[in-house]
Amino acid sequence: MSLFEVKERMDALVKELNQHNYNYYVLAQPTISDYDFDQKLKELEELEKQYPEYQDADSPTQKIGGEITKEFQTVRHKWPMLSLGNTYNEQDLRDFDTRIRKAIGDNFEYVCELKFDGLSMSLTYRDGKLYRAVTRGDGTKGDDVTSNVKTINKIPKKLTGSGYPDEFEIRGEIFMHRAAFERLNQARIDNDEVPYANPRNFAAGTIKLQDSAEVARRPLDCFLYFLYADKNPFKTHWDSIHAVKSWGFHICEHTRLCKNLDEVFDFIHYWDEHREKLSYDIDGIVLKVNSYAQQAELGFTAKSPRWAIAYKYKAEEAETILESVSYQVGRTGAVTPVANLKPVLLAGTTVKRATLHNANEIERLDLYEKDTVTVEKGGEIIPKITGVNTLKRVAGAKKIIYPDTCPECGSNLIRKEGEAAYYCPNDEGCPPQIVGKIQHFISRKAMNIDGLGDETIETFYRNGYIEHISDLYTLYEKQDELRSLNRFGDKSIKNMLDGIEKSKQMPFDKVLFGLGIRYVGETVAKKITAYFKNIDSLMNASFEELTSVDEIGDRIAESLLEYFKDQRHIDQINQLRQAGLQFEVSETETVLVSDKLSGKTFLISGVFERYSRDELTALIEANGGKMLSGISAKLNYLVAGDNMGPSKLEKARKLNIPMISDDDLLSMINQN
Ligand code: AMP
Ligand code: ZN
Repeated sequence: MSLFEVKERMDALVKELNQHNYNYYVLAQPTISDYDFDQKLKELEELEKQYPEYQDADSPTQKIGGEITKEFQTVRHKWPMLSLGNTYNEQDLRDFDTRIRKAIGDNFEYVCELKFDGLSMSLTYRDGKLYRAVTRGDGTKGDDVTSNVKTINKIPKKLTGSGYPDEFEIRGEIFMHRAAFERLNQARIDNDEVPYANPRNFAAGTIKLQDSAEVARRPLDCFLYFLYADKNPFKTHWDSIHAVKSWGFHICEHTRLCKNLDEVFDFIHYWDEHREKLSYDIDGIVLKVNSYAQQAELGFTAKSPRWAIAYKYKAEEAETILESVSYQVGRTGAVTPVANLKPVLLAGTTVKRATLHNANEIERLDLYEKDTVTVEKGGEIIPKITGVNTLKRVAGAKKIIYPDTCPECGSNLIRKEGEAAYYCPNDEGCPPQIVGKIQHFISRKAMNIDGLGDETIETFYRNGYIEHISDLYTLYEKQDELRSLNRFGDKSIKNMLDGIEKSKQMPFDKVLFGLGIRYVGETVAKKITAYFKNIDSLMNASFEELTSVDEIGDRIAESLLEYFKDQRHIDQINQLRQAGLQFEVSETETVLVSDKLSGKTFLISGVFERYSRDELTALIEANGGKMLSGISAKLNYLVAGDNMGPSKLEKARKLNIPMISDDDLLSMINQN
């Protein structure tokens, strides 16, 4: 092979293998056998060893691509990643401004930026390619998370435009938009995984994952806000952030150039009021002296630059008394401690309760009854206890001890290895679990039964009308008694019975999800029903068969086996079957909602912030659209998200296929 041919072969392999990785990890639709994939990867590795000068930054040999690495390499930062001086009060900003004027005079400008609430990241580029991504770590050394960061579509792997230094470092904040956070966190809750407290934790947890394929599934974003180079071609921060935009980096559109402190305060007040409208969390604003020469004049303290400061918005905080702790039993039996507080005004609402997460959190806080505690309302919806004032502890107060039996049914609690939560194992006899299961079954994401709500389920349970999901389907026999419950008029009873009747048409995957089997969330239910087609083959499946299904791991398989081992569950399923519910995949699965998309063909690619691909598929099909499996001239629309495979993009462009966003799709459906 000539050198030219070598290079060509290597480029082709990189492209092809990346596409296969994408098919496998992102689309979950591999088109090559593992063996063939490994052969090609080996060939590429060999060539890279012989011709290291041709190695591409984008090469799959440089990524983990789903394999587990044991840990991250530690890397020393070329320029230490300092923190920012920060303050919560405006007087400190005036003092900051005065200090600067003393040092450099009055002729300077500030750049005002939002303070994004994520995790900071240092990215090094060499010859226009992403070379390395390192976390802040302790400021001098951080973790090399390059393989994970390479899956983030908003961070360019190759730069566009021109004028960038041969080598430079750029820093920014990796974060997750709230909509993505809420959707993915809900999926975690549905799958009985521990949810994250806020988008920042979700983003930070994601970057530290050992599995890059999982990182690729979680949409992250990154705003860049510092450029470092031995020979920085720009004179000001403002110029550099606009230049980096032309190189393909994402910068925040709200950044402002301010001539004086008054303009800075305007910016601060504006965003204090409007920050809820942003699609991501911020916890303050950052003020930077614009000119690099003036920055150099001002210099650094040991911990932070003298030319920048962060003004933080107050996470609303208040002190109050912990009255008691109650323990709530959820639908899956998880027992969650909740603090009952002496009512206190916080961020405009009266707060009476705060979450304590789990037993470890109680231990960590070392809580006693009647303790004076600090509650905080940050990005989270439910306030949390952030500290205890031990000086105010009441003498002789009782220590709060997490119970070892279920507060609702008295069963001994169990804790699964590696999990923080304790569970009540009595799933068929513990009242809140029974009610929670039925409520889950009727919920919008499961059977979506109109005319029935959570409270009604509770009332019915308390009055002895329902104890199992299957009892819902005998309610019509009890109409007269229900009327006597005097809360329900004829009309609402009719609505409810109609809703229940209609639910018999809900597809098998919704039914399976509705049963509330631990770890069987919406997506898993779809995967399982698509594979096994009907409940009998699912119930008869062995561990091996279950785990052979895409995305079904040991934990889910064990949970399913355990569920079907219980005769009471089998009886339930039989009764639901008799009632006429769907326990097999029907040929005409989708119920048409409209025909707005009829005659049009679609393909979905990439990841989306607000929807899963399955949800989008369901939406298209429900509105009469047809899904295609690949890009061809027959395709009308490509619904494109983040992290789309490069070859797919190219093909779509070549064939001139319109690429639309999820928003575009929704407006097609919603237009009249
Ligand atoms: P702190 O963690 O309170 O010391 O604040 C410093 C951190 O703020 C930095 O390490 C960044 O992660 C973060 N940050 C968020 N937005 C910005 C921004 N616009 N400019 C600089 N730092 C920022
Ligand atoms: Zn219980």
